[in-house]
Amino acid sequence: MAKSRKKNICGLCGNLSSNTVSMNLYGENIHLCENCMDLINYIYESYHEKLQRKEEAAAKAKEMNDSIESLPTPAEMKEELERYVIGQEDAKISLSVAIYNHYKRIQFLKHSLPTAENDVELKKSNVLLIGPTGVGKTLLAQTIAHMLKVPFAIADATTLTEAGYVGEDVENILLRLIQNANFDVKQAELGIIYIDEIDKISRKSENRSITRDVSGEGVQQALLKIIEGTISNVPPNGGRKHPNQDFIAIDTSNILFICGGAFDGLEDIIKHRMGSSVVGFTSDSKVAPSEDTDILSKVESFDLVKYGLIPELVGRLPVITTLKPLDVGALSTILTEPKNALVKQYQKLFAMDGVELEFTQEAVDTIAKKSFEMKTGARGLRSIMEKLMMPYMFRIPSDDSITKLVITKDLVSAL
Ligand code: ADP
Repeated sequence: MAKSRKKNICGLCGNLSSNTVSMNLYGENIHLCENCMDLINYIYESYHEKLQRKEEAAAKAKEMNDSIESLPTPAEMKEELERYVIGQEDAKISLSVAIYNHYKRIQFLKHSLPTAENDVELKKSNVLLIGPTGVGKTLLAQTIAHMLKVPFAIADATTLTEAGYVGEDVENILLRLIQNANFDVKQAELGIIYIDEIDKISRKSENRSITRDVSGEGVQQALLKIIEGTISNVPPNGGRKHPNQDFIAIDTSNILFICGGAFDGLEDIIKHRMGSSVVGFTSDSKVAPSEDTDILSKVESFDLVKYGLIPELVGRLPVITTLKPLDVGALSTILTEPKNALVKQYQKLFAMDGVELEFTQEAVDTIAKKSFEMKTGARGLRSIMEKLMMPYMFRIPSDDSITKLVITKDLVSAL
């Protein structure tokens, strides 16, 4: 390639230009103007970018498939969950088993031949997590998806409405999963979707009403379709479906759905059911059901129907597990122990400014107590920490004299 000063005709666009590059193409010497060279470079770069993206997607798909093939055992999954989630033993066990069975089923479907011996149909085990806000429902689902390297999406059931009404269509949930799988539909089809606040779409009454219940039962019906497995047509740009639009077709049969909700008031339904089964005033019935602190764990499918979930949807959520409220001790542990515990995060942040950050145990316990009083589970921890650390985060980057900061109980109490 050589630059020429005199005017030449560009071999590509045919324009006369003084700024051309001459090159030998298939034995013939041709000139190319600057604009055409830019265009060629642009095409070349986009081609390479596309190729690179394709290679990256293939590597990710391989990573995911390998991870499904060498599926960790439920015990290994639980062990991994322990590194991020404090407490919630029952939920960790149920979830690990459900996930293990789900991906075993996928392996089975992938490798088995459609012979008469394979007439046992393995059903998908979607999961329902019941527990108050901020106790780790989303974190559990997120951690498991991360561990298995499968695409993951979170949706809020309260934003959904029945198709055609103001709000989001359920297909948007699938779009989020497809987006998180970098538009690799095959990967998305093996992903996990967490639907939060499923209790908020309960139907308004147990009897079907005459007026349409577009954000309750209507959404449940729409969700039911994608949860039980269907080929869904998803508008690639989100929003409402409209005719003459291209759709992404996605098979939802192997997507695992984990639903979560606080189900306020469910305890009363369970107590009522259990109360009605307590006969007479014998010594056994001295402990009234209302005194049972772990009443939620006694939940049965029909309690959920009574609560307002349609029976068909409850039937598609065969694994039901409950999460317990976090006590002060658990909140203290959450602050310091998990792999990305808040205290560790702040320590890292401060270390970047050359400051050693230390929290006394009493300070940690006081933060936990304050958060406990907020009744928002571990969610309160972050807001307290932000408020507590704000003045130091403001000052430290411009003050070289500080090399160590110790957070004491008094500093926390003064908040
Ligand atoms: P929810 O139960 O409402 O889905 P999340 O899982 O979203 O609650 O929890 C909110 C935040 O609180 C998480 O990001 C996590 O940092 C923290 N958290 C909640 N529960 C736990 C737990 N059991 N162990 C560790 N961290 C937790």
